[in-house]
Amino acid sequence: MPTHFPKADILVIDDTPDNLNLLSAMLTEQGYKVRSVTKGSTGLRGAQVVPPDLILLDINMPEMNGYEVCQQLKASDRTHDIPVIFISALEDILDKVKAFSVGGVDYITKPFHLEEVLARIETHLTIRNLQKRLQEQNLQLQQEIRERRQAQEKFTKAFRSSPAPIAITTVADGRFVDVNPSFLRLSGYSCQEIIGHTAAELKLGIEPEIYNQAVAGLRETGTLVNQECEFRTKSGETRAVLICIELIELDGVECTLNIITDITERKRLENEFISLVSHELKTPLTSMMGALDILSAGQLGDLTDQGRRVLSIATTNAERLLRLINDILDLERMKSGKITMQKAKCNAAVLMIQATEVMQGMADQASVTLVTHPLPVDLWADGDRLLQTLTNLLSNAIKFSEPGGTVWLSAELKTGEAKVGNRDRRTVDAQSHEDAPPPSPSLLITVKDQGRGIPADKLQTIFERFQQVDASDSRQKGGTGLGLAICRNIVEQHDGKIWVESVPGEGSTFYVWLPAGS
Ligand code: ADP
Repeated sequence: MPTHFPKADILVIDDTPDNLNLLSAMLTEQGYKVRSVTKGSTGLRGAQVVPPDLILLDINMPEMNGYEVCQQLKASDRTHDIPVIFISALEDILDKVKAFSVGGVDYITKPFHLEEVLARIETHLTIRNLQKRLQEQNLQLQQEIRERRQAQEKFTKAFRSSPAPIAITTVADGRFVDVNPSFLRLSGYSCQEIIGHTAAELKLGIEPEIYNQAVAGLRETGTLVNQECEFRTKSGETRAVLICIELIELDGVECTLNIITDITERKRLENEFISLVSHELKTPLTSMMGALDILSAGQLGDLTDQGRRVLSIATTNAERLLRLINDILDLERMKSGKITMQKAKCNAAVLMIQATEVMQGMADQASVTLVTHPLPVDLWADGDRLLQTLTNLLSNAIKFSEPGGTVWLSAELKTGEAKVGNRDRRTVDAQSHEDAPPPSPSLLITVKDQGRGIPADKLQTIFERFQQVDASDSRQKGGTGLGLAICRNIVEQHDGKIWVESVPGEGSTFYVWLPAGS
């Protein structure tokens, strides 16, 4: 049954025109595209110009016999892989052996049995197709191997010569698998002292709990950027570092790739600079504000309307600057331990209500609804500082909400540890731990908004000093970029934890976990 598109291209070389016509008609009938020639040399030329998918080749031909034709086909790269089926009237075993030895794949004997010829052709075309596919796959695999080798070489070179300290550890038990020379320089250890050990065994100062939580969070986000940690070197010196972690697979073992940036010197300079500038700025700024006060009180004469407007702009900006300086100094004093928490018994519900009252004006102005569910739980804490934390979180939630949005302040009493993995950060209920020793109760305060949200790569960094999602946030929203750094400091001084979960475009929820007895 002829098909519209030829199935395969078959070249028939036979010096007997009757055979040729018969084969040609039969194969054409089956949908094959058939070229037929009576001479070996013509067949060879044709095969070179357009290589067919299969060749039927008569053995007994005058000028050049089939064996020779086959040998020449096999000698050429272009025709080497074309399957050749011999056509023979001879039943001699020697001929068959010869047919195979010169590269034939099969033979058919005259007179032809139609089904047999077709079956053999089909079989060899299928084999040839499979071979082609295998060759293609092989090429593809070789290409992949080449690419992998190149990628591996690039990684190895980057790993060895990177100025950033890099370490690879197993996820299962945190053992060092490989470290680069920069890491050895930073840590002061030798390769033998590190490989096979854990950070805890080497007392590198990276808290296993924090690290494990970071890795747990990694499973959801894929990478972890700039987790600030302390790093203790062999000589006992403590360095401040930022760690970026990626999950990788090494010989089938799940590992973490830890890229470290040593920020000790940068932090020292930053602190020195900030504290110097702040102290230097505070005195003249305070006196400037005094002068602005005197002007606005009219003690130096009446101002025109325009004068009052300009004065009001100057006062607003001076106040903002003073807020910034006070925040910087506050944070600095807290960090250096000059401010300690004045802990006393206080009630969470009272603090929550106070925070709401303080922020109500701002919420009204922004047309944001504030909903509070106070929880009467006693805390051993610095009430003023916790109030500062709650007002700051509420202020942010309002600032980053659209008019008409709602901000919720609520609290739950929990038992157990706060888990800072993404999903399981919250404390676990006592019921799920019936056999465990009774865990101490804790309080989880949440501030939830429906605002613009925070991108995943910023969820950690916004708790750093001067870190904002958008560089224009402080200008447009009047913040200092220090609020969350201060909140974190306060919460940590109460042995608590603070973190945020967010869906960009849908809103954010800030969590403050505090041991209820703190
Ligand atoms: P700021 O004074 O700029 O508010 P913070 O440290 O309090 O400083 O916050 C840092 C940054 O975190 C903000 O500038 C903002 O980009 C982001 N942020 C904080 N809270 C929220 C929130 N509720 N929704 C969206 N972004 C927030």
